[in-house]
Amino acid sequence: MGKSKKDKIQNWIRANYKVLTILFGLLFILVNFLILRVIPGNHLAYSHMMYIPIVVLGSILGSYYGMGAGILAGLLVGPLTPWVFSSGEPQYWMDWLFRLLMMVFVGYIAGWFSRSYRIAREKISEIEYINPDTLLFNINYLNKNRLEVKKVYTIATLLIGNCDTICDVVGYATYYKFLLNIKEIFTRKYPGVIMVQTSIDHFWLIKPTFDFEQEVEDYVKHIHQASHVLGHHLFIDFAFGFTNRKHIHQNQISDYFIQSDQAAREAKKNHLASMIYSDLNTQKEFEYEILSDFKDALNNGQIYLMYQPKIDLKTRKPIGLEALIRWNHPTKKQIKPDQFIPSVENTNMIHEMTETVFRWSLEFQKKLNDKGIELPISINISTKNLYNKDFYNRMSKILKEYNIKPSLIELEITETILMENPEDSKLILDSFSNEGYRIAIDDFGKGYSSLAYIAQFPITTIKVDRFFTKQILINPTTQHIVKATIDLAKQLGYEVVIEGVEDVETADLMQKLGCQSAQGYLFMRPRGEDELITYLNQYRDELKKG
Ligand code: C2E
Ligand code: CA
Ligand code: CA
Repeated sequence: MGKSKKDKIQNWIRANYKVLTILFGLLFILVNFLILRVIPGNHLAYSHMMYIPIVVLGSILGSYYGMGAGILAGLLVGPLTPWVFSSGEPQYWMDWLFRLLMMVFVGYIAGWFSRSYRIAREKISEIEYINPDTLLFNINYLNKNRLEVKKVYTIATLLIGNCDTICDVVGYATYYKFLLNIKEIFTRKYPGVIMVQTSIDHFWLIKPTFDFEQEVEDYVKHIHQASHVLGHHLFIDFAFGFTNRKHIHQNQISDYFIQSDQAAREAKKNHLASMIYSDLNTQKEFEYEILSDFKDALNNGQIYLMYQPKIDLKTRKPIGLEALIRWNHPTKKQIKPDQFIPSVENTNMIHEMTETVFRWSLEFQKKLNDKGIELPISINISTKNLYNKDFYNRMSKILKEYNIKPSLIELEITETILMENPEDSKLILDSFSNEGYRIAIDDFGKGYSSLAYIAQFPITTIKVDRFFTKQILINPTTQHIVKATIDLAKQLGYEVVIEGVEDVETADLMQKLGCQSAQGYLFMRPRGEDELITYLNQYRDELKKG
């Protein structure tokens, strides 16, 4: 309470300082003038006191007020004050005029000095709060601003992923202009927003919240809008991280951004435009839970394999199977492989998973062989497996256990590993290939490698990604790309499999383009062992052990 009274007085003084200073000056001059009249002896010595109100008015209100005070004081202690009171003898005019001019000059000088001082101070505080190159606020500015206690704020982190490239290509000035555009748009749209720059590609935004979730989408739009700069349309690879929270303590504002920073980094990693911290938390919890359940699930029947046949496009009969992992979680229902494999890949359980898939596929292969059926089974191999030096030996051991021909196993790997670590990949793939395994490049076309590059590895099969299959009927360019890929792959001696065929038209067109085989819902969705055995029994004669 006491503090607010003090604040009120301070505010009142601040609002009325001009009038108060003038009143003080006039009163001082007047009292000084009266003092001169009652003091005996050389009373004019006391006229020097007049310099006090002159300097005060000049320095607080500026040169004009200082000079005005100088004139008033000069006249009062000049022609209006006699040299000798008793006789009324006036001062010598040169004396008082010189004194008056001195007073005016001091009034002017006081104003000039205080103005120069103020400008210098402003410059210093500018450097204290603003980055000189981008003209955006820095962290000091954030701490200077008072947030309202208990009010909820939207906290956002903005990361610019391709800042180096933008600066290299269009120059720093254009990049800085883009940043100023962002600041301009945000301050226009959201009154009370503060944007600070913490490094060249890292920014914080804080604002009183209205509709937090809705704004997340708008923020992304604003960045696109800001990317039109000086005749360029910049490509901005950016990521936002969001969180919202109540303001409690002033001195922890930077800490409020820890969560939004994490969300932004996660968004960037996942190539998303934005991510909210609470989602990140839920995702992390989900990941943690599935990882703790995974090991048991692998052994208690929750995790199992389904198989999807690969079809010969000419005969439309099965010529292979792909093993696809499934997880029937007791509380989370069916978890898709895309939802748990990336997490498992970050742990060493990926080796156990692949080994188990390999073992189960061989068991099924054996079951089929016992029924007189023989066709290759494809197994998806994670990049992490190939980096494991022991991988080849362990697989060979299991293969011997089941006594299965390596030519009945196809390993599916993605292009990424061949690009990331070509030497090691070649060594390990050569050992598998020498043993007689088939090796397929999965999701071909999704990465950036070319067939010419892939040709150095011992490959037998190219599986063209579902992305092309979806486009082929509507996009003539895709048709040309697929045709060229098929032609070249065949010349290099590879089998070409097309993934994700869902309708007859696509299957017919692919066949016309020269593709030998296909997989897709048109022919069969991934199914369990029993259904597959019934299905394959129809083709028993073609699939006889040979
Ligand atoms: P993938 O290797 O490209 O497998 C093909 C995916 O496409 C499968 O999804 C399959 O069910 C689906 N699919 C097949 N035909 C069609 C179609 O006509 N239309 C559409 N829309 N989809 C079709 P699934 O089983 O969900 O597997 C997803 C991915 O998970 C696989 O993609 C593979 O990368 C990975 N994966 C599955 N099983 C394993 C495994 O045992 N080990 C490893 N490392 N990865 C696996
Ligand atoms: Ca696959
Ligand atoms: Ca695939």
